[in-house]
Amino acid sequence: MKSPQAPDQTDRVYEAEDWVFWLPQYAEQMSLDAIKEFIADIFQTRWFRSRFCRGTCRVFVHDGRGARRAIGKCDFDTDDVHLTFPRCLRQKLIVLHELAHAASGGGHDGWFCSTYLKLVRRFMGRDAWEELRWQFQLAGVKYRCPPCPSECDEIGTPLI
Ligand SMILES: [Zn+2]
Repeated sequence: MKSPQAPDQTDRVYEAEDWVFWLPQYAEQMSLDAIKEFIADIFQTRWFRSRFCRGTCRVFVHDGRGARRAIGKCDFDTDDVHLTFPRCLRQKLIVLHELAHAASGGGHDGWFCSTYLKLVRRFMGRDAWEELRWQFQLAGVKYRCPPCPSECDEIGTPLI
Protein backbone atom coordinates (compact mmCIF):
# COMPACT_ATOMS: atom_id res chain seq x y z
CA MET A 1 0.00 0.00 0.00
CA LYS A 2 1.29 3.41 -0.90
CA SER A 3 1.91 5.65 2.04
CA PRO A 4 0.36 9.08 1.78
CA GLN A 5 2.82 11.65 0.56
CA ALA A 6 4.17 14.04 3.15
CA PRO A 7 3.03 17.58 2.49
CA ASP A 8 5.66 19.67 0.79
CA GLN A 9 6.55 23.23 1.70
CA THR A 10 3.92 24.71 -0.66
CA ASP A 11 1.14 22.59 0.87
CA ARG A 12 2.30 23.64 4.31
CA VAL A 13 2.30 27.33 3.42
CA TYR A 14 -1.25 27.11 2.02
CA GLU A 15 -2.43 25.14 5.04
CA ALA A 16 -0.93 27.69 7.43
CA GLU A 17 -2.40 30.64 5.52
CA ASP A 18 -5.86 29.13 5.48
CA TRP A 19 -6.01 29.51 9.24
CA VAL A 20 -5.24 33.20 8.95
CA PHE A 21 -7.26 34.12 5.81
CA TRP A 22 -10.59 33.47 7.41
CA LEU A 23 -10.05 35.19 10.71
CA PRO A 24 -12.61 38.01 10.58
CA GLN A 25 -10.00 40.73 11.06
CA TYR A 26 -8.12 39.62 7.92
CA ALA A 27 -10.95 38.32 5.73
CA GLU A 28 -12.01 41.64 4.24
CA GLN A 29 -12.17 41.57 0.45
CA MET A 30 -10.62 44.54 -1.29
CA SER A 31 -11.53 46.27 -4.53
CA LEU A 32 -8.89 46.36 -7.23
CA ASP A 33 -8.54 50.11 -6.67
CA ALA A 34 -7.98 49.53 -2.95
CA ILE A 35 -5.26 47.00 -3.81
CA LYS A 36 -3.62 49.50 -6.15
CA GLU A 37 -3.61 52.10 -3.38
CA PHE A 38 -2.26 49.62 -0.85
CA ILE A 39 0.53 48.59 -3.23
CA ALA A 40 1.34 52.18 -4.20
CA ASP A 41 1.67 53.09 -0.52
CA ILE A 42 4.00 50.14 0.03
CA PHE A 43 6.18 51.05 -2.94
CA GLN A 44 6.45 54.61 -1.71
CA THR A 45 8.02 53.60 1.58
CA ARG A 46 11.76 53.86 1.92
CA TRP A 47 11.60 50.62 3.94
CA PHE A 48 10.31 48.67 0.94
CA ARG A 49 12.35 50.40 -1.72
CA SER A 50 15.62 50.03 0.12
CA ARG A 51 15.08 46.31 0.63
CA PHE A 52 13.35 45.11 -2.48
CA CYS A 53 13.87 47.55 -5.34
CA ARG A 54 17.02 47.64 -7.37
CA GLY A 55 15.99 49.84 -10.26
CA THR A 56 12.95 51.95 -10.97
CA CYS A 57 10.85 49.12 -9.60
CA ARG A 58 7.57 49.96 -11.27
CA VAL A 59 4.52 47.99 -10.22
CA PHE A 60 1.52 46.94 -12.30
CA VAL A 61 -1.63 45.56 -10.70
CA HIS A 62 -3.76 43.52 -13.10
CA ASP A 63 -7.41 42.54 -12.96
CA GLY A 64 -7.30 38.76 -12.79
CA ARG A 65 -11.02 38.26 -13.29
CA GLY A 66 -11.53 34.79 -14.72
CA ALA A 67 -8.12 33.59 -13.56
CA ARG A 68 -8.03 30.85 -10.95
CA ARG A 69 -4.95 31.99 -9.10
CA ALA A 70 -3.36 35.19 -7.97
CA ILE A 71 0.06 35.81 -9.47
CA GLY A 72 3.07 37.82 -8.33
CA LYS A 73 6.21 38.06 -10.40
CA CYS A 74 9.09 40.33 -11.14
CA ASP A 75 10.58 40.84 -14.56
CA PHE A 76 14.22 40.79 -13.60
CA ASP A 77 15.29 42.51 -16.84
CA THR A 78 13.26 45.61 -16.14
CA ASP A 79 12.68 45.17 -12.40
CA ASP A 80 8.97 45.68 -13.08
CA VAL A 81 6.60 43.92 -10.72
CA HIS A 82 3.36 42.42 -12.03
CA LEU A 83 0.59 41.39 -9.65
CA THR A 84 -2.67 39.77 -10.73
CA PHE A 85 -5.70 39.18 -8.54
CA PRO A 86 -8.86 37.26 -9.42
CA ARG A 87 -11.96 38.73 -7.87
CA CYS A 88 -12.22 36.12 -5.13
CA LEU A 89 -8.58 36.53 -4.10
CA ARG A 90 -8.37 40.15 -3.08
CA GLN A 91 -7.33 40.20 0.55
CA LYS A 92 -4.38 41.98 2.11
CA LEU A 93 -2.70 38.73 3.04
CA ILE A 94 -2.94 37.46 -0.55
CA VAL A 95 -1.64 40.77 -1.86
CA LEU A 96 1.42 40.49 0.38
CA HIS A 97 1.84 36.80 -0.52
CA GLU A 98 2.05 37.70 -4.21
CA LEU A 99 4.27 40.68 -3.52
CA ALA A 100 6.59 38.36 -1.58
CA HIS A 101 6.85 36.15 -4.69
CA ALA A 102 7.86 39.15 -6.77
CA ALA A 103 10.32 40.35 -4.13
CA SER A 104 11.92 36.97 -3.43
CA GLY A 105 11.83 35.75 -7.01
CA GLY A 106 10.87 32.19 -6.34
CA GLY A 107 8.45 29.60 -5.06
CA HIS A 108 7.52 28.97 -1.45
CA ASP A 109 10.98 28.43 -0.02
CA GLY A 110 12.43 29.83 3.19
CA TRP A 111 13.45 33.01 1.42
CA PHE A 112 9.89 33.60 0.22
CA CYS A 113 8.40 32.88 3.66
CA SER A 114 10.90 35.16 5.38
CA THR A 115 10.07 37.95 2.92
CA TYR A 116 6.34 37.33 3.30
CA LEU A 117 6.56 37.56 7.09
CA LYS A 118 8.54 40.80 6.87
CA LEU A 119 5.90 42.34 4.59
CA VAL A 120 3.06 41.18 6.82
CA ARG A 121 4.71 42.59 9.91
CA ARG A 122 5.40 45.91 8.27
CA PHE A 123 2.13 46.40 6.38
CA MET A 124 -0.49 44.45 8.37
CA GLY A 125 0.95 44.76 11.85
CA ARG A 126 2.41 42.71 14.60
CA ASP A 127 -0.74 40.68 15.39
CA ALA A 128 -1.05 39.42 11.82
CA TRP A 129 2.67 38.66 11.72
CA GLU A 130 2.50 36.68 14.97
CA GLU A 131 -0.55 34.75 13.80
CA LEU A 132 1.01 33.84 10.46
CA ARG A 133 4.34 32.92 12.02
CA TRP A 134 2.55 30.76 14.60
CA GLN A 135 0.63 28.96 11.85
CA PHE A 136 3.87 28.48 9.90
CA GLN A 137 5.36 26.87 12.99
CA LEU A 138 2.33 24.59 13.51
CA ALA A 139 2.36 23.51 9.86
CA GLY A 140 6.12 22.91 9.81
CA VAL A 141 6.82 25.66 7.26
CA LYS A 142 10.46 26.63 6.83
CA TYR A 143 10.28 30.38 7.16
CA ARG A 144 13.77 31.45 8.02
CA CYS A 145 15.86 33.02 5.36
CA PRO A 146 18.47 30.53 4.20
CA PRO A 147 22.09 31.53 4.73
CA CYS A 148 23.14 33.79 1.93
CA PRO A 149 26.52 34.76 0.52
CA SER A 150 28.33 37.74 1.96
CA GLU A 151 27.53 39.93 -1.06
CA CYS A 152 23.85 39.39 -0.32
CA ASP A 153 22.12 42.66 0.53
CA GLU A 154 19.55 43.31 3.18
CA ILE A 155 16.86 41.39 1.34
CA GLY A 156 18.43 38.30 2.87
CA THR A 157 18.64 39.53 6.42
CA PRO A 158 16.21 37.74 8.69
CA LEU A 159 13.99 40.08 10.64
CA ILE A 160 13.32 37.54 13.35
ZN1 LIG B 1 2.43 31.47 -3.63
